[in-house]
Amino acid sequence: MANARKPVVHRLTNRRESQWGERERARGEEAVRTLLSHVGEDPTREGLQRTPLRMVQALEFLTSGYQQDPKDAINGALFVEEDYQEMILCKDLDFYSLCEHHLLPFMGKAHVAYLPNKRIVGISKLARMVEIYCRRLQVQERLTTQIAQTLMEEIDPLGVAVVLEAEHLCMRMRGVQKQNSKMTTSAMLGAFRTNVETRQEFMNLIRNGK
Ligand SMILES: [Zn+2]
Repeated sequence: MANARKPVVHRLTNRRESQWGERERARGEEAVRTLLSHVGEDPTREGLQRTPLRMVQALEFLTSGYQQDPKDAINGALFVEEDYQEMILCKDLDFYSLCEHHLLPFMGKAHVAYLPNKRIVGISKLARMVEIYCRRLQVQERLTTQIAQTLMEEIDPLGVAVVLEAEHLCMRMRGVQKQNSKMTTSAMLGAFRTNVETRQEFMNLIRNGK
């Protein structure tokens, strides 16, 4: 994994169980009230009374990926398929994540492909793995690499290709306000890196294929 600051993974027996204790939640809510005051608001006015609680709960959900191991999503769903050796592509997978610089959303489409080497994984598990990485504070480049490397390690295919196309609200809503800019990142491993034709086939499929 390219992430140097590997999160400590706690496994929750019950997923709805809060990852934060009562004390952490109360402190989180207090921090939100402080921020509300800083922007010139009155945190005690009616419309804002439950905002700290809601924001803390939203943040817990949006960062719940720290409590889950992306490899677990894939591990249980691998099956052997000796005969199929063509590219498997999961195209236009919607994703939503939070940029670690501004805690604002970035979202878009993920295209994930691999060239199987006797082992295949269910598409829904693949989407689940992407989602776990998305529910952490991210930069798009690292997210792309993490998805590709995890697939490479867990499925052991001949190659992996990942392309992420995303719009970042931190660019759209603040600063430069480039309304229509999109960012594209890619990670090519194995055959997708070494074989131009394989890479080209993938690029053609995500651009115009079905
Ligand atoms: Zn940002």
